[in-house]
Amino acid sequence: MPVTRNNFATALHDAMTGLPNRDKLHQDIEVHTQAPMMAKAMSLMLVGTKDFKQVNDTLGRGNGDRLLKITAERVAAFAKRIRGVAYRLAGDEFAVLMDRCETPVVAAELALQLQTIVSEPFEVAGLSLILRSRVGSANLPEHGRNGHELLRSADVALGWAGVDLSGISFYDMARDASGPRSLEVMADLRQAIKSDALDLHLQPKVSLVDGRLVGCEALLRWIHPQHGYIPPTNFIAVAEKGELMDQLTLWVARRALRHARELRCSGVNIPIAINVSGHNMVDADFPSELQALVADSGLESDAIHLEITETVLMSDPERAATVIGELAAIAFALDIDDFGTGYSSLSYLRRPPLKSLKIDRAFVMELNANAQDVHIVRSTVGLAHGLGLSVIAEGVEDAHTLELLGKLGCDMAQGFGIGKPMPVDEFLQWALKHSAT
Ligand code: C2E
Ligand code: MG
Ligand code: MG
Repeated sequence: MPVTRNNFATALHDAMTGLPNRDKLHQDIEVHTQAPMMAKAMSLMLVGTKDFKQVNDTLGRGNGDRLLKITAERVAAFAKRIRGVAYRLAGDEFAVLMDRCETPVVAAELALQLQTIVSEPFEVAGLSLILRSRVGSANLPEHGRNGHELLRSADVALGWAGVDLSGISFYDMARDASGPRSLEVMADLRQAIKSDALDLHLQPKVSLVDGRLVGCEALLRWIHPQHGYIPPTNFIAVAEKGELMDQLTLWVARRALRHARELRCSGVNIPIAINVSGHNMVDADFPSELQALVADSGLESDAIHLEITETVLMSDPERAATVIGELAAIAFALDIDDFGTGYSSLSYLRRPPLKSLKIDRAFVMELNANAQDVHIVRSTVGLAHGLGLSVIAEGVEDAHTLELLGKLGCDMAQGFGIGKPMPVDEFLQWALKHSAT
């Protein structure tokens, strides 16, 4: 078939929605990367829905197609308003290519607008439907020097957006454990562990019965020499991939024990909780290695608590059970972290010996406004107390939530409204002042 103006245009456009397609996006990115001076600073935002397949399956393809056309119009209107270009990439996946936002705050605002516009109610088959949507974003040129690399990075961010609470994620090469730069970050992290270039911040946990300081959580902090602050969740993903988790957790334990000793010398006698990763819980050597560190520190094993997530317990329950048994035999207290966000199976709770459940901040942060969260917290407290466990709420940001948690029978609380994670000196001052009041 001869190439005519018409079929050339169709090859670069999606027949159903009329939007430019993936090939056109590649072409457009190429234009920006081949500018005579250097690649233009652009952002690519991908938006996808979470429930489209369900609509197609239950309401039929005709309604599915209608929904895609409406989504295309919404994405195109958004793109036009910000002087960007909208594309349909595949199925229910759309993209907007735009000039780079001036600041991360503006980028976050635009991503939220795009997410909101796609999630507005649709009238389909006499029903008013709301599709949950997610947005992933990456920047040219630092997250990809050509169309393929940029799309890969934005796609990775879209994948994270599927699990992140907000449904919006920005590409971050430190979090991309299989990305082209992760090897570099891994090498830097290995070096940072060796040269003690990491830090622990301590966040207080208080009793809801009498307000007393009852413990604290150690949270890793890493200021990368080139990339600046990297959130712990990001570099921990890299550490897990690079089998650095054993070294990293032992580094945290050693440092936490040192801080516990310093606090004790100043009269603050509280346990420090450290976060333990899945790798540690299936490592048969972990309990004895930890025990050796405690022995070296001259403290007892009750100086540190271990926070484990539900996911860790469920991914390899048999091996985890063995390690947990050994840790408990050495008298380490075990708390379940982020309770409610992992697997819904509760069977692991039957297995002693746990000490506390930590209700995830997702259920705490909007407690004042959300009656469902109140039910969830109340039921979790009932469940935990029935099993002889105490309950700690994380993510407590204001006094009203604190009061409500007390009324719901929660035992302890942690959150920015009580105290932020602080360097050890600052934490000590906070603790002394708190005990004096
Ligand atoms: P996590 O164990 O659930 O830690 C609590 C996280 O919630 C911390 O984030 C803390 O700063 C944050 N947070 C505390 N109170 C509030 C609040 O009132 N509002 C809000 N919005 N957030 C609050 P951070 O320090 O960024 O750590 C994130 C996660 O990274 C931790 O979640 C933990 O899973 C992981 N992590 C941190 N340090 C370590 C570590 O040493 N080892 C391992 N394996 N994971 C760690
Ligand atoms: Mg924790
Ligand atoms: Mg947590």
